[in-house]
Amino acid sequence: MKQILISACIAGEAIRYDGRGFPVKDPLLMEWLKEKRALPFCPEVSGGLATPRPPAEIQGGSGLDVLAGRARIVNTLGEDVTDDFVLGAHKTLSFAKDNGVMAAILKENSPSCGSTTIYDGTFSSHLVPGNGVTTALLRAHHIVVFNETEIAGAARFLAE
Ligand code: SF4
Repeated sequence: MKQILISACIAGEAIRYDGRGFPVKDPLLMEWLKEKRALPFCPEVSGGLATPRPPAEIQGGSGLDVLAGRARIVNTLGEDVTDDFVLGAHKTLSFAKDNGVMAAILKENSPSCGSTTIYDGTFSSHLVPGNGVTTALLRAHHIVVFNETEIAGAARFLAE
């Protein structure tokens, strides 16, 4: 049985920056969670960040730029949390590899988990094209990343 990594907040775990989850009530996803085909994981918590925590955004680029040292991740207190996010990305990659995972469903817009869009680093709720640091690292290792609106696509991938 092929397994798939999912953002823990999508599975309903209350680990987001605001102390809440983001449960996605898709029947397929709920079935995968029940049969343990879907493996919840949170990059930011695994990187050592607390819940709740100040919101953070990528400044100066996208996830790949963070990994390359060209951009950083800063929270609303002005603290540089880049190292915590990069550590979380590497822990997520290790978790994926340990479980033979080749695909993931990650929460869109997050500086860790976004796969199409992220916030622009100004804390003004403005989205720009780009991906989070965990998504960038997973994709660099040939793990296919979907977002929470692409569960049908993930199902097709798992069926191949
Ligand atoms: S890092 Fe990813 S899994 Fe963790 S709370 Fe943020 S979006 Fe959800």
